[in-house]
Amino acid sequence: MADGTVVLGGFSHETNTFASEMTGRPLFQERREYFGDEIPEKMRNTNTCEGGVIDVAETKGIDLYYTVSASATPSGVVAADAYEFYTEKILEGVEARSSNLDGVMLCLHGAMVPEGMTDGEGPLVQKVRERVGADVPIVVTLDLHGNISDELIEQVDALVAYEEYPHTDMGDTGRRAMNILVRMMRGELNPAIHIERPPVLPMGPKQNTREGPMAEVMATARECEERDDIVKVNVFPAFHQADVPSMGFSVPVVATNKEAAREVSRELAAYVWERREDFLDNYPEPPEAVSRAKELVADGATEDGPVVMADVGDNPGGGGVADGTTVLREMIDQGLTNAGFAIMRDPEVIEACIEAGVGERMTADLGGKTDDMHGDPIEDLDGYVKTITDGEFANTGPMGTGSENHLGRTAHLQCGHEDGVSVILTENRLQPLDAEIWRHVGIQPERLDTLVVKSTNHYRADYEPMSCEVLPINSIGLVSMDPRNFKLEHIPRPQFPLDEMANDDYPDWE
Ligand SMILES: [Zn+2]
Repeated sequence: MADGTVVLGGFSHETNTFASEMTGRPLFQERREYFGDEIPEKMRNTNTCEGGVIDVAETKGIDLYYTVSASATPSGVVAADAYEFYTEKILEGVEARSSNLDGVMLCLHGAMVPEGMTDGEGPLVQKVRERVGADVPIVVTLDLHGNISDELIEQVDALVAYEEYPHTDMGDTGRRAMNILVRMMRGELNPAIHIERPPVLPMGPKQNTREGPMAEVMATARECEERDDIVKVNVFPAFHQADVPSMGFSVPVVATNKEAAREVSRELAAYVWERREDFLDNYPEPPEAVSRAKELVADGATEDGPVVMADVGDNPGGGGVADGTTVLREMIDQGLTNAGFAIMRDPEVIEACIEAGVGERMTADLGGKTDDMHGDPIEDLDGYVKTITDGEFANTGPMGTGSENHLGRTAHLQCGHEDGVSVILTENRLQPLDAEIWRHVGIQPERLDTLVVKSTNHYRADYEPMSCEVLPINSIGLVSMDPRNFKLEHIPRPQFPLDEMANDDYPDWE
């Protein structure tokens, strides 16, 4: 006899509202779309929210009813029919179990924007709430990049966000959330939530929870969780590539009573405001970054491992088109050798590589084809086709460990000075946050002198330990690290650093 029944659903998308490509169901199918019993088959023992939820449920004898787990690589707004399709799958599960239902667990992102709407998660949870009523607890897990709406806060009993960026604690997030839900199901907890919104937009790399101001905010959050009444302190430093009213820093705190939640939320919000200048920095643009890498190689620094550079502006993990050329062009122009570049999404050039064949040379215009925000194509590029793969591999690093990836047809093309730059060419978009992407095309990333990954901060989890230095590049694009590069018209203003703000312009949190 199971100790309760919980409906589990996963529907996750980080929507870059500036990206022109709409996110339909095929983009979920390309990344992850599991139904029913496929979910435990594919996700048990993986470092994902669903993996963590399954772990606790099986340990505690909770019966999970599986609906859907769908996730797409970040991109433009979610097509209305795709949003309805996955929402319906969750609702069908809730209805099928309505006579015997003790809780609902949803693994969401928090920054989903469907077509014609400004928030995906609030209305989704509201529909679930309408079906289960006020007495069945609903707990959600969220990505640290959620832009949290008031509507979502009103509908959930508790929310649990990743504590780490890079997100190496997805499994633990699922476990934490499931433990809270089980306490509620047993009548041991009836939580309250309070949310404050400090008007501060950090630069992308400054959201790193391993050092700098975010590390300190997170340490304070963990200390506050030691207090008697506090259940979970969530910190969302904002996904600034979305022009919606809920976009912004938020600190929703879950506690046993409203007063305690409010006190901690305000304390943290005041701290974030006080530290606002520390969330900005000066990062090099591509020419300066590549010449800095060259200097490090010349100085022998790379005996300890490669210089790892991040092409932040074109991070597919934030909606980047993944065919941006500004950094690759610089690597070729400055004559880097023993260098790698991941990724370049260019199906046309893949086709040309396959036509030429392994061991042959080919010439093509590479990249810069999706839009005019990520640099021009590199014209008449001559390259050597080293390998062609099916683009299938599973993460072996600390993030999403065990999760499967599908790059589509993939080629390792050597180009530039003495064919010294190895480019991983793909058909699909994927943030190359896991170093297995190199190994699956036959490259040992540790042996390169310089490598570039299209990533904002996640790459640090797998690459920082092997590197002599990491270098975030302030490259242009849809995922520019600087919120000042976006036209944000629908967010609450004023907002630092978009607007001039004096000390007394902030709400009184003292
Ligand atoms: Zn995230």
